[in-house]
Amino acid sequence: MSARRDKSELDLFRASVRRFLVEQVAPNAAEWRTRGYIDRDLWRKAGALGLLCASAPVEYGGGGGDFWHETVLIEELASIGFPDFSIPLQNVILAPYYIQYATEEQKQRWLPRMATGDLVAALAMSEPGAGSDVRAIKTHARRDGDHYIVNGQKTFITHGHTADLICLAVKTDVAEAGVGGFSLLIVETQKTPGFSRGRRLDKVGLKAQDTAELFFEDARVPVANLLGGVEGRGFYQLMEQLAKERINIAMQALALTEAALAETVAYVKERKVFGKKLIEFQNTRMVLAEAKTAAAVTRTFVESCIDKLIQGTLDQETAAMAKWWATEKQCEIIDNCVQLHGGYGYMLEYPVARMWTDGRIQKIWGGSNEVMKDLIARKL
Ligand SMILES: Cc1cc2nc3c(=O)[nH]c(=O)nc-3n(C[C@H](O)[C@H](O)[C@H](O)COP(=O)(O)OP(=O)(O)OC[C@H]3O[C@@H](n4cnc5c(N)ncnc54)[C@H](O)[C@@H]3O)c2cc1C
Repeated sequence: MSARRDKSELDLFRASVRRFLVEQVAPNAAEWRTRGYIDRDLWRKAGALGLLCASAPVEYGGGGGDFWHETVLIEELASIGFPDFSIPLQNVILAPYYIQYATEEQKQRWLPRMATGDLVAALAMSEPGAGSDVRAIKTHARRDGDHYIVNGQKTFITHGHTADLICLAVKTDVAEAGVGGFSLLIVETQKTPGFSRGRRLDKVGLKAQDTAELFFEDARVPVANLLGGVEGRGFYQLMEQLAKERINIAMQALALTEAALAETVAYVKERKVFGKKLIEFQNTRMVLAEAKTAAAVTRTFVESCIDKLIQGTLDQETAAMAKWWATEKQCEIIDNCVQLHGGYGYMLEYPVARMWTDGRIQKIWGGSNEVMKDLIARKL
């Protein structure tokens, strides 16, 4: 049975999300893309409206919802053409680390302020020499009294330029060759001597989503900031969260696909070539019929994965299938949508062009699609 919540409640939530995005985001999106990051205040405004940590427990300031609430946010951000505002990273990827692994004191310290938008969170695993191969990270933390001394470098970190709270993957035991030497440290960026941010990276898309390098040079992080208070659990914590992260990406891919299709159907009904509307050409009709079918199939699969995720029965292999499938279909379909727009599809003032550039990362992050296929193949 579907674990989906009361539809009328989700509709009300959707209406409030849409109003917020239309009023607070749409008028500023172009300026934020040009300068490379959104207004810090947008996080607090979203928090005040209950959009942050929407599926976190109310006792920690969350909205008490479930993944269907997060789905509404993902769909509406895609629909307005601004996936750059990475609420899903804060809500779906970061908040669960704190909810599931933090000590009670740590939950009280950080979660309520993540929900108000006073704390913007980031997850820092990737390094110049360790992306797909997380085990290869070199950043390490050595205990010194009631602090860890952290040295190393991270790259490609979403919110790296603005984050207040970084969930940092480190090795607390460098001698341990296996995965037992990994831990997650929570770095409070305002209070950490030895921490610095590098360049804000110039990306192909998601221009208003800040992505940066991070540096740790004898950075001092209190032992009290070790997530969960026990060393050596970091790798397992990271792996356990991956299924949810991958369903988040699959849902984002589907939402972007559906938004691009809506844009394209409207465009081909208006645009005339050789005296006929574009929709009247058989090629247009075939391409869009195939795309609509693929999107519908993807929706059925991704929604079944969300049901399983909520029920706690989603396995890593199925999550990998959803991530691979939805993002491949997204890139293929949006590329066809660009083609149907002709030269206008290559102009960034057209939403479909931005969906094309914003969406390309989906096949790379959260575990590349090649890694997804490898995971699936292991269970053949
Ligand atoms: C915009 C953006 C935002 C990001 N945000 C974050 C973030 O917030 N936090 C974070 O920690 N990281 C983040 N990343 C990093 C991202 O997760 C990595 O880029 C990704 O995991 C791939 O790692 P890599 O770039 O080092 O590529 P590599 O691992 O070097 O991969 C290169 C190629 O090799 C292929 N490959 C790798 N392994 C295998 C295999 N086993 N079999 C076959 N082929 C393989 C890959 O599929 C890829 O095609 C972000 C990246 C980008 C671009």
